[in-house]
Amino acid sequence: MKTVKSNELHTLASNFLPGGVNSPVRAFKAVGGRPLFIERAKGDKLYDVDGNELIDYVCSWGAMIVGHAHKDVTKALRDALENGTSYGTCTLLEVKLAKEIIEAFPSIERIRMVNSGTEATMSAIRLARGFTGRDKIIKYEGCYHGHADYLLVKAGSGGITLGIPDSSGVPDDFAKNTLVVPYNDLEATLKKVKEYKGQVAAIIVEPVAANMGIILPKEEFFKGLREICTKEEIVLIFDEVITGFRVSWGGAQKYFDVYPDLTCLGKIIGGGLPVGAFGGKKEIMEHLAPIGDVYQAGTLSGNPIAMKAGIETLKILKQPGVYKALENSAVFISKEFKKLAQKYNLPVYSTQIASLFCTFFTREQVFDYASAKKCDTKRYARFFHGMLDQGIYFAPSQFEAAFLSLAHNEHDIEKTISCADRVLQRL
Ligand code: PLP
Repeated sequence: MKTVKSNELHTLASNFLPGGVNSPVRAFKAVGGRPLFIERAKGDKLYDVDGNELIDYVCSWGAMIVGHAHKDVTKALRDALENGTSYGTCTLLEVKLAKEIIEAFPSIERIRMVNSGTEATMSAIRLARGFTGRDKIIKYEGCYHGHADYLLVKAGSGGITLGIPDSSGVPDDFAKNTLVVPYNDLEATLKKVKEYKGQVAAIIVEPVAANMGIILPKEEFFKGLREICTKEEIVLIFDEVITGFRVSWGGAQKYFDVYPDLTCLGKIIGGGLPVGAFGGKKEIMEHLAPIGDVYQAGTLSGNPIAMKAGIETLKILKQPGVYKALENSAVFISKEFKKLAQKYNLPVYSTQIASLFCTFFTREQVFDYASAKKCDTKRYARFFHGMLDQGIYFAPSQFEAAFLSLAHNEHDIEKTISCADRVLQRL
């Protein structure tokens, strides 16, 4: 694949941006090689500066569920731009998006818009601490909740990819209130809660762990978590930044029928613009300023352009049959990958839920961070580059999800599978 111009741009970018990137996983460090510079995107395709066309299974890390540059979203944004880009005041658009989200998520009665998933989790935790008057939080090994100091403890995503799940620059004092437990381990959670009885403000969890590959929750995990939190008056926070409006119209909570006290959202609700949100029970949310004493604010929060992109994206997702179609594609591609791995006797463990899937290069079951870490990341790197050379773009790390969008059609999926056949044969 020709990458002359991308390489030149990466050299140029490295003069101005650390590592030439604005977010670490983009740098391809886990798979080797140099990042691609993308010029435009349409449907399920990315087009880079060297003229390569790529079928995109990253979808801006999940945000582009309706496909890139969807005509309805693009038109709505064009119209919205005519009205100005930011007012720093209240607008009807933020109320419309809030209402749509609240109708979709039964556990959300009040919501606040922010500008990223990181802001959403950070603010939800502050709120939980303010509400309970407690300091400690429990998080799970390998779950990623953005880059706030006290959440960069055994974090997934870029943290595992680069081998720095505990970032430097985080004082011990900031992280001392973060208790970490293995994902899917109810007993360990209960033990921590007992050990710190009356001190835990919140348990934050990804309802499908999507930042160490895709790891599904064990059946009783969430039901047990819900019971523990209710009994111990701990705020249960579902970080649905990836799963919200992806796993189902009402997120993973609706899919599993287990409801948290607070939910964090991002990605899809911004339709590709920088948005996050956190919401939940009225009695908790009303502790937020200006009604309550937990402070949280944002110059661009509820930005009209971002709200418009979110509203239009949700309109498309609300149409009947959308989630079934997304899931059918993911089930198909995931099964075909599994068959190919068997055909070539490769050690592969596949996971899939709704339109998320992951191919772990290991024969063992993956159910937490420790089992995810056993994957053969070198083999994944060869898979990644083999696919890329044929115009298929998967995440440049074993520990990220593959995302499908409504724009992934049969033809492109078939092409992906036949490319995978050639690549897996050589692995
Ligand atoms: N929470 C989860 C589950 C995420 O996957 C991410 C980002 O990938 C975040 C929070 C942070 O979101 P952002 O990158 O918008 O700050």
